[in-house]
Amino acid sequence: MIVKQIWTGNAYRNFNYLIVCPDTGEALAIDPLDHRQCLAVAKANGWQITQILNTHEHGDHTGGNQPMIAATGAKLLAHRNAKETIKGIDIGLDAGDVVKVGKVELLSLDTPGHTMSHVCLLSQTDQGALFCGDTLFNAGAGNCHNGGHPSELYDTFASQLAGLDDNTLIYPGHDNIANNLPFTLDREPPNEYAQVLVSKVDRQDPAQAMVSTLAMEKQMNTFFRLQNPTIIANLRKEFPDIGENPDAKTVFLKLRELRNKW
Ligand SMILES: [Zn+2]
Ligand SMILES: [Zn+2]
Repeated sequence: MIVKQIWTGNAYRNFNYLIVCPDTGEALAIDPLDHRQCLAVAKANGWQITQILNTHEHGDHTGGNQPMIAATGAKLLAHRNAKETIKGIDIGLDAGDVVKVGKVELLSLDTPGHTMSHVCLLSQTDQGALFCGDTLFNAGAGNCHNGGHPSELYDTFASQLAGLDDNTLIYPGHDNIANNLPFTLDREPPNEYAQVLVSKVDRQDPAQAMVSTLAMEKQMNTFFRLQNPTIIANLRKEFPDIGENPDAKTVFLKLRELRNKW
């Protein structure tokens, strides 16, 4: 599997992706908002974009669909419940469906929270890669302002993402790490991993972005560190009613609430 991360350079800081079968040259474009750049990269490498996947229905993820389809005839894949909100879906995805790109196989995960019709793709390769849209970001979690629910987002994190292999590569839908690491340090000032990384990512070129793994996220992403004593102690200063031993879901929901105002 070849993964090409494409930096759009727009105000929303979107990442688009091409997933390519090295044997056949077939490619799947994930959320190809910058359709021109996606097409140019495919052309330069001799790849054929035959499928588009939308992780969810927001315009900064679907806005490139029609020109991309017009240019390539690609089939459009998205969550099966997004048929009302995304125009022209050819294949509606359920949890457990397998998406094939040439000889590459990717598993469809039903990951509600940011919106209620959100899918992630998990490559079935030796080292897995997770294409997670606006569900999981580097050092962060998606917001729930536009059609989502924090409670479902917690369930997706706890019951699906946290259990993936630690070596899984994380490919999010936006470049947010420089905004997210200071939140980690605000909640957990002694986090040395985040301290070291924060100065590096400040200078990072998003066109050559660092790709994290789930193991790295568990070290720097507050939303995976729900039992951390420092995080809980700091949270109690804001929300004394959560008590001394809040459950993981309570911690997640309160962190999400604080992040909304960050
Ligand atoms: Zn979104
Ligand atoms: Zn987005």
